Amino acid sequence: MVRPTKCRCVEAEPNVVYFKPRGVPLTDLDEVVLAVEEYEAIRLADLEGLEQEPAAVRMGVSRQTFGRVLETARRTIADAIINGKAIRIEGGDFVMAMRKFRCSDCGHAWEVAYGAARPAACPQCQKPSVHRAEEDRGYARAGAGRGRCRGRRGPGGPNR
Ligand SMILES: [Zn+2]
Repeated sequence: MVRPTKCRCVEAEPNVVYFKPRGVPLTDLDEVVLAVEEYEAIRLADLEGLEQEPAAVRMGVSRQTFGRVLETARRTIADAIINGKAIRIEGGDFVMAMRKFRCSDCGHAWEVAYGAARPAACPQCQKPSVHRAEEDRGYARAGAGRGRCRGRRGPGGPNR
């Protein structure tokens, strides 16, 4: 079965993108970079407590790829904590998982990033008749990610 490789769906972008040890001047500080898909792997495996298989499905990657991303992420964070480095979260190779909505009034359909709030009104006619699009329902039930990465490319650089 053909499936885009390495799509690495991320459901929510990080709210905080920089961590720094207290009392160390920035000039003396080493910095490590955690890619956004590595952040997502940590979130799914270590915060949500998912096994690697379902976590890999959520991100739309193989279990092996997920394991690799998670291992790199943990080593990066360990390096920062043990060696007193700052952590910058940015970049990487990922797409945002998107949810599709449809307005039952005017028929307008649009997509919203997975982590964003559910839209309160249709952006076209401003009426509150907002529903998850039909073709999106199975997606929510089956678990986000699998083969359905239609999202935009994630930020690749320091444009935060
Ligand atoms: Zn509408």
